[in-house]
Amino acid sequence: MCVLGCRSNLYDGEALSGELTARGAFLAGGPEGCQAAVVVSCSVTAAADKKCRQAVRRARRAVGPNGVVAACGCWAQGLDAGDARALGIDVLAGSRRKSALPDALEAALESGGFFDVRGKPEGWDFLTVSRPLLRTRAFLKVQEGCDHFCSYCVIPFLRGRPASRPLEDTLAEARRITESGCGEIVLTGVHLGIYGKDGAALAELVRRVSETPGLVRLRLGSLEPFSLTDNLLEALADSPLFCPHLHLPLQSGDDEVLARMRRGYTAEDFFQVCRRARKKLGGDLHISSDVLVGFPSESEEAFQNTLALMAGAGLGRVHVFPYSSRRGTEAAGFLGRLPPQTVSERAARAAALGKELLEHYAARFVGRNLPILAESAEDGVYSGYTRNFLFAFVRGIDGDALGREVGARMTGSFKGELVGEWIP
Ligand code: SF4
Repeated sequence: MCVLGCRSNLYDGEALSGELTARGAFLAGGPEGCQAAVVVSCSVTAAADKKCRQAVRRARRAVGPNGVVAACGCWAQGLDAGDARALGIDVLAGSRRKSALPDALEAALESGGFFDVRGKPEGWDFLTVSRPLLRTRAFLKVQEGCDHFCSYCVIPFLRGRPASRPLEDTLAEARRITESGCGEIVLTGVHLGIYGKDGAALAELVRRVSETPGLVRLRLGSLEPFSLTDNLLEALADSPLFCPHLHLPLQSGDDEVLARMRRGYTAEDFFQVCRRARKKLGGDLHISSDVLVGFPSESEEAFQNTLALMAGAGLGRVHVFPYSSRRGTEAAGFLGRLPPQTVSERAARAAALGKELLEHYAARFVGRNLPILAESAEDGVYSGYTRNFLFAFVRGIDGDALGREVGARMTGSFKGELVGEWIP
């Protein structure tokens, strides 16, 4: 199983792994010696497309001529069937038909041949995770698709129109995950804020999932800034399980670029959203983000506005994406494409600032007590995430802490990560 892309794909990969295992498959640590390989694909950038092709070629070599290669997800959804065959793919499942993949994979293993079970990207694709592979944190997908049509984004074309997971089905999965011993759930979606079509529905979901017996932590995945309604903030503030971290994709800090991106907010709006969120959820709230640099006609001044807002809004972790044109999107027809060298140079400058901001944010916790959810241990040092999503290493823990939340006094920070001593 090779999973590329976002948290929704991670969820899909876990669900498929669980289903294949239930049917008797043995999950291998790598592709060598396997009978079948599954690539959960991504198409968000040109680089993602390239990685998918490489993953499929690697898988084909690993399984040999008699093995089966299956690809599902965004890149697979948009792939020409002839190209897929030429690449060595035997099974193609779409972004909303991943649940059809296990049957098609079995059929291909038994009888050979090419199976295209993509269909239209619509409706809710029922997948289930019962026992997360990482026992400390589980992604729970509750929303699919998007109809916002940001001018650069290919996702609405590949993932289809919005659909939400039924509430009771979501709550049942939250219970299964918690009963399996996993203490942290991350609610994810392509455009999570429109779960149930408005912020009220996501707020209700937060309240209901928070009541899951045994759940220790609740997080939200990426949330479009305009989705952070007062109602949702209220529900997050009321939940003792909510971890004070929000991922709000900024994309640009320049009003003209934001308008051409069709993001639906201005730089000032984004700044005010961060301010409102901190007022409600506390000044220590970690706000991480994505920025997209080198958009067509982005001037040096516009880029500087992005850097200024990254710093001004007090962002922590920032993922930087260099713009790449995606076929079929509105921005693919925009004039003013920037030279690749300018795009990569701006991406490097934004990433350098992102590192500085994360270090600066992490440093404020040195000398303070923060619990971590221990997810691995090596030579007596446990590591895991704090509630505000900083990675931390903790020494001196007595006994087996894996999967448990343990208190620590942070004694230092390095490159945005914390080190600390256990508080018994
Ligand atoms: S909100 Fe914009 S960036 Fe996010 S998936 Fe929808 S179109 Fe793409």
